[in-house]
Amino acid sequence: MLKGNTAIITGGSRGIGAAIALKLASLGADIVLLDIGNEDKAAEVREKAEKEFGVKTGYYSCNVADFEQTKAVAARIGKEFQNVTVLINNAGITRDGLILTMNEAQFDDVISVNLKGAFNMIKHCSRMFMKNKCGRIVNISSVSGLSGNAGQANYSASKAGLVGLTKTVAREFASKNITCNAIAPGFIATDMTADITAENNPLAAAIPLGRPGSPEDIAGAAAFLVTAPYVTGVVLRVDGGLGM
Ligand code: NAP
Repeated sequence: MLKGNTAIITGGSRGIGAAIALKLASLGADIVLLDIGNEDKAAEVREKAEKEFGVKTGYYSCNVADFEQTKAVAARIGKEFQNVTVLINNAGITRDGLILTMNEAQFDDVISVNLKGAFNMIKHCSRMFMKNKCGRIVNISSVSGLSGNAGQANYSASKAGLVGLTKTVAREFASKNITCNAIAPGFIATDMTADITAENNPLAAAIPLGRPGSPEDIAGAAAFLVTAPYVTGVVLRVDGGLGM
């Protein structure tokens, strides 16, 4: 289904990003993983994708918050991989704290990685998508960005910002066969949420479907959005009903 296409997945070496990378590889896409410096973890994902699905893979260490680094990496990927048409903006961090105690660096760091990082990648990949006459962008937002979450002013703002970015990119590039959609996951079992349980967090206990999501739950939604040419500007909640 995606054979002959290359997908870039930021934060693709572990958690949700790794599951999305493997799902897209299973559909035939060559995959390029980007993260700060988790080359060993990335190697495991790459080996699995190459062995099980026979696709080409790549890894680049890159801080998505850095405008110049993302520019250079996007250019390299364009030279080293064929027909880059998919971008999954998944890299994200948390620096939680109530506003009364949150400092400036906590706020700035989260906005820089989660929101500016997506802008940087979209900015530097969009000409490549136009040249390839196709683009499928998926931004990983969060239910925190839709409903807010006490202790996550920085994170919620970054994820709400991604919703606005998604809809604007969808409008600006619609005429170029470039779609842009967002996924808003609820609680997904990864390193990021390792400390959260139904026992210590009332929101986790309130999931209507009665379980945290898996990275594969998000990967399935990402694969849908990447292969749905008539869907753009959508924010898809994948949260077990949490955000209803
Ligand atoms: P995770 O396990 O903590 O993985 C985060 C990934 O992002 C890692 O690969 C990390 O790279 C990468 N990353 C962090 N900062 C980066 C930077 N500056 N530049 C490049 N890569 C960077 O997180 P996850 O749970 O899979 O979450 C993935 C996405 O889903 C995030 O955007 C998160 O906000 C969102 N989300 C998660 C949940 C959840 O419940 N887990 C819910 C809603 C939304 P390194 O390995 O090099 O550190």
